[in-house]
Amino acid sequence: MTLDTPSGEDFADPHLHAGGLYIAGAWEPGHGIPVMDPSSARILAEVPDATIADALRAVEAAEAAAAGWRATPPRARAEILRRWFTLMTEHAEDLARLISLENGKALPDARGEVAYAAEFFRWYSEEAVRVPGEFRHTPSGAHHILVDHDPIGISVLITPWNFPAAMATRKIGPALAAGCTVILKPASETPLTAYAMARLGAEAGVPPGVVNVLTTTQPGPVVSAMLADPRVRKLSFTGSTGVGRTLLAEAAKTVVSCSMELGGNAPFVVFDDADLAAALDGAMIAKMRNAGEACTAANRFYVQAGIHDAFVAGLTARMAALKLGPGTDPATQVGPMITAKAVAKIDRLVTQAVARGARVTTGGAPLPGIGYFYPPTVLENLPADAEIAHEEIFGPVAPIYRFDTEEQAIRMANDTEYGLAAYVYSRDLSRALRVGKAIESGMVAINRGLMSDPAAPFGGAKQSGLGREGGVTGILEFLEPKYFAVAF
Ligand code: NAP
Repeated sequence: MTLDTPSGEDFADPHLHAGGLYIAGAWEPGHGIPVMDPSSARILAEVPDATIADALRAVEAAEAAAAGWRATPPRARAEILRRWFTLMTEHAEDLARLISLENGKALPDARGEVAYAAEFFRWYSEEAVRVPGEFRHTPSGAHHILVDHDPIGISVLITPWNFPAAMATRKIGPALAAGCTVILKPASETPLTAYAMARLGAEAGVPPGVVNVLTTTQPGPVVSAMLADPRVRKLSFTGSTGVGRTLLAEAAKTVVSCSMELGGNAPFVVFDDADLAAALDGAMIAKMRNAGEACTAANRFYVQAGIHDAFVAGLTARMAALKLGPGTDPATQVGPMITAKAVAKIDRLVTQAVARGARVTTGGAPLPGIGYFYPPTVLENLPADAEIAHEEIFGPVAPIYRFDTEEQAIRMANDTEYGLAAYVYSRDLSRALRVGKAIESGMVAINRGLMSDPAAPFGGAKQSGLGREGGVTGILEFLEPKYFAVAF
């Protein structure tokens, strides 16, 4: 496949270039969506702008491939996923560089993402052959209950820009393992990674039409048209809570099954008895992985009074020492934000916090010049009701709030519409578990700064989502249980 971008010299492997919309196993060249390097605002490539008609052709392709894929033995589906894992691993460095270029994240973060993303293919290659069923007696003892699982059907997968590889594989892996065919719509900011992975999927043996990929400047109408098509039975969305709400309403019109991975506002609670060095290490990971552009990012640090000042000093020193730069520069630890709009939002939240009495201990203002850079920032002395406590910062800003009692920490942690992730640091494991249990979130990390694992159920409570991805339950999102009432 030839290179259709002006920046071909950036890529070592020409197999990874976008070749157009990917429908029914064919590449359809096109343009209309510029993809930018956020560290320089340089245009890297242009990808096609799919119309509603294109999207409906993708549904057609997914439908045409559905029966064959469903009939493909689970072991054969598993082996294709496993080959896709191997190919991603072989091309890891090129994929990481592509992610760094279009998303801006530092190379170590991008390498971590590729490894994490590939792992979903390996995990679901293992789960494809373990789809559960049930055989029971009715309570009366007179009959039998038999439960089978069918592929749910054609699945529309929508992903955000912050993990362009992993958010796609976390959906494609279980969907294909379950026997579903899919249409992936990646975010407009970071489509190159999705197209590159589709290319590797074809090389791995994914049949034409099983995975289709399209990009569009009109996600609303294009996705609505797909959801209105009665052949589409599943929507799996990762993105903001606002868009998630809109899509739930759209999906309601045709009663399409929805899995929703939405926004977060994670509390990071540190008790006096925590191991300070471990808490600081964990805080840096929970806050700074992806430069803070993660749904699980620690958004509010609640630190008990006895350890508060040492934690502020320690976090300030570590944050101030980080090196900013383009993601692809090997020395970079913190890359740019995705867009100028993202920087403006962070700036607004920090400015509002300062107006409410917050003290900036490092950072605190956008960096002038080319690229969308915001420096690592620590804020202390914040009121609990500051705007920044209620919105996703999605950037390298750590607001620290002081608390005195366990009850107060739990109350503050739960004072949000979100419920995705939470972090608790304490040497007293029973307290950490008690507090973790009381916090209303789908995931809790105890004395750890990282919770994502393909083998674990990832997802949120409250307005952070519906359903789970990964783990043994992730595949169930793409299966329809079928109950047979059996007399014999
Ligand atoms: P976003 O604005 O909600 O966009 C996500 C995806 O939805 C993109 O592909 C976007 O396409 C598409 N989209 C936008 N409007 C749409 C519409 N009306 N109908 C159909 N699709 C639409 O989110 P984002 O800014 O890309 O990502 C950041 C958000 O994702 C944060 O809130 C973060 O917490 C959340 N997130 C959650 C998880 C999780 O697992 N819970 C993981 C990662 C990120 P365009 O790019 O073309 O606009």
